[in-house]
Amino acid sequence: MVREGAAGTGSFWQRKEVMLDYPEMKALKLLIFIFGALAFTRVLGGTRPNLILISVDTLRQDHVSIYGYARNATPNADRLMRTGTWFSSAHCNIPLTSPGFASLMTSRYPHETGSTRNGVPMVNDLETLAEILKKNGYATAAVLSNWPLKKNISNLQKGFDLYDDDFFRKRWIFFNSERDAQGVTRQASAWIDSNPQQPFFLWAHYSDPHQPYLFHNGFNFASKTQTPNKAQDKINAYDSEVAYADYHIGVLLDQLRARGLDQNSLIVFIADHGEELGEHGYTGHGRYLYEPSMRIPFGLSGPGIPAGKRVDAQIELLDLAPTMLAYAGIAPGAAMRGRNLMPFILGQKSWPEHFLVYFETYPGAVRGEGAEKMVNVKDPIWIGLKLDDLKVCFHPSGARWEMYDLAGDAKEIRNLADPADQTFIRFSDHLLAWRRVWEKSAVSGQPDAMTLEDKKRLEALGYLK
Ligand SMILES: [Zn+2]
Repeated sequence: MVREGAAGTGSFWQRKEVMLDYPEMKALKLLIFIFGALAFTRVLGGTRPNLILISVDTLRQDHVSIYGYARNATPNADRLMRTGTWFSSAHCNIPLTSPGFASLMTSRYPHETGSTRNGVPMVNDLETLAEILKKNGYATAAVLSNWPLKKNISNLQKGFDLYDDDFFRKRWIFFNSERDAQGVTRQASAWIDSNPQQPFFLWAHYSDPHQPYLFHNGFNFASKTQTPNKAQDKINAYDSEVAYADYHIGVLLDQLRARGLDQNSLIVFIADHGEELGEHGYTGHGRYLYEPSMRIPFGLSGPGIPAGKRVDAQIELLDLAPTMLAYAGIAPGAAMRGRNLMPFILGQKSWPEHFLVYFETYPGAVRGEGAEKMVNVKDPIWIGLKLDDLKVCFHPSGARWEMYDLAGDAKEIRNLADPADQTFIRFSDHLLAWRRVWEKSAVSGQPDAMTLEDKKRLEALGYLK
């Protein structure tokens, strides 16, 4: 028997349906925005803050020390989050890089951005965070490091004055489709050194923890007494990548502080998604919706943000763009779905007791040529929802259901999906109803821009296996 919990209250589900209803959601968002904007006129004396988004690819939450990881792999990210507010129950909405950032920038689900796989760019007509900021007088720059974010196959350059995705370089002896952390910090620092007009929006994306995991000298967590073990070696190499990225993030943070930019900037730290490191017989991300892939670090630090505060309320990456805009005193984009978290962070409103998060995932990347290109990019391989500790996922093509109660089964091992169980019936009905809302109207970007080289790079990252 599954705990009933919040799912037992019928009215809750109805409220979430209202959030999916477009005009009503807009009215609610406007109301929430007014609270947030008023707060920041006071805090920042009317001037708009800089917004700095630091993201790490493939960084699972439980390998970040502030979230309880035993290894001190992320001292700099920890320090940043500790000076602000961080979220213990933060989730991505899709565990894939380019689709994840399309959702983050537009605050829309992948079936709405059209970017469902790496190699499929988002559609043109959705306004992005960068575009809204630029319209409001911000200088905008992005420093990328990962092939799926190249502009021709992601369309993520929309709104950026500088979109630095020119990083083709061999890394060690490997074929590389990434720019390493040192390179990201170097490029981001060079842009800061150029004295950009303020306010600015800077997005620096680090990709080191992505496969293949490479060991970095000086970032070694392997125990000397440990007997060789393939699974543990993999984790050691992953942690080495995490620590290497964190070190260079620290260099960037030091530079921001040295220039006094921490005094008038909101600095955000997130991952686009996590990674499975052998759980469920899988290493990588994109194939499933389990917690190692879905749960992410998420922290905000800046003037007015309460320091040293952990929030346990459930949030999602869709919430980030409206929150950053509210911090800057700018209304969310008309089509943005996520919540502005500022009134909750500032204590002007209490956190909702329950909040539903929806997930979806698709095969890792679209293939580049011939008949393979004709595959339908609109069909998810899994969809899911999570309410507090209860999570239900559905694999449409295999008609497979899974339900987990994370309170007693954090590793998602005991599948509780049972057609006779009332909680399962309620959750699964709701998930199917959610999909029915958008199934017919799901949009898709055009993967035509993908070149053979793009295909080769995506392959190197393990997306076409
Ligand atoms: Zn990613």
